[in-house]
Amino acid sequence: MIEGYEEYKKAGEIAASVMKDVLKLIKPGVKINEIVEFVEREILKRGGNIAFPCNLSVNEIAAHDTARIDDDRKLKEGDLVKIDLGVHVNGYIADMAKSIIVGKGNKEKELLIKASEEALDEAINKIKPGVKSNEIGKVIEETIRSYGFKPIVNLTGHFLSRYNLHTNKVLFNIYTRHYFEIKEGDVIAIEPFATNGYGKVIDEAEALIYKFLKRKPTRNIYARKLLDYIERRYPHLPFCERWLKDIMPKINLYSALRELINIGSIYAYNILREKDRGVVSQAEHTVIVKKDGCEIITSI
Ligand code: MN
Ligand code: MN
Repeated sequence: MIEGYEEYKKAGEIAASVMKDVLKLIKPGVKINEIVEFVEREILKRGGNIAFPCNLSVNEIAAHDTARIDDDRKLKEGDLVKIDLGVHVNGYIADMAKSIIVGKGNKEKELLIKASEEALDEAINKIKPGVKSNEIGKVIEETIRSYGFKPIVNLTGHFLSRYNLHTNKVLFNIYTRHYFEIKEGDVIAIEPFATNGYGKVIDEAEALIYKFLKRKPTRNIYARKLLDYIERRYPHLPFCERWLKDIMPKINLYSALRELINIGSIYAYNILREKDRGVVSQAEHTVIVKKDGCEIITSI
């Protein structure tokens, strides 16, 4: 029996049930802050904890977007939306993502979604103890290329452990020369990304999601106040500016966040955009590796 198994299962069930419901809200004209706040509220209502701010990334944005404070962006007909949400129970995390088209899309966007979903299914089918990590990358890459699209080379799946969303082990979405072996008891978030663009993401200037790194001295009083709050509330897992809006006025919050990034107290997850502004799809499940295969903890 793996450590935290029951907690992983519960986190996965909550993640899947919230995902199922949020997908029904995806319609033209809906504000993105309503969607991410729905996800975060429902995770808590259903007995989970929020593992990270709900990511909602549209079209050429691959990941790390969420609602800003006072965000009035709305979904538009034909947008390809990625919802990426995380639930933890006692630190054991379920991470999952789905892509969906707002209203009526087009054939290419539908195929992009199919490509990342099929790549995920193929990867899951292959996972068992002893399998080499690069064989998983290979099947993901081949599946996505068979649709005429490209995998995103610099976005990866990742291994999870208690209160740790990204351990130092990653699972590439392409074939790599180096590999390690998958082991029984590994907990892995597998997340293929497919694009009709270049196949790589670049940092946008803006970040909305952050993570605490370490305490550092600063003379800025707002930064000190914010750092105290963050260290107490979010010592291990990511948070976003939206969650800090009641701590201090927005103008002071932004300068405090900037200061904490500069001194190395927090890490900024910049919004990630496809290099050639191609449309990006994503599919993600968290799995636990078992004797003869793996168990999907986030299956809907
Ligand atoms: Mn995710
Ligand atoms: Mn993930």
